[in-house]
Amino acid sequence: METQKCVLYDRDCIGCLECEMCDLDPSKVCDNCGKCLEIHDSAVIRIDGIYGADGQKRKGN
Ligand code: SF4
Ligand code: SF4
Repeated sequence: METQKCVLYDRDCIGCLECEMCDLDPSKVCDNCGKCLEIHDSAVIRIDGIYGADGQKRKGN
């Protein structure tokens, strides 16, 4: 079974969920409220990659 790479650190994912925490309130898990995005007429969001249903990375570094 292939391991996922951590999106924050140079290691394999250990399931710590640090990457799921809110950028504005570290005590809560992100609920995609959008407050950190400062969306006006348009916004740009960087994505690191796209994964297929099989968990294999399709695009990205
Ligand atoms: S859950 Fe933890 S180890 Fe896994 S990608 Fe997120 S921050 Fe990295
Ligand atoms: S979308 Fe909302 S909950 Fe998620 S990181 Fe941004 S402010 Fe926090």
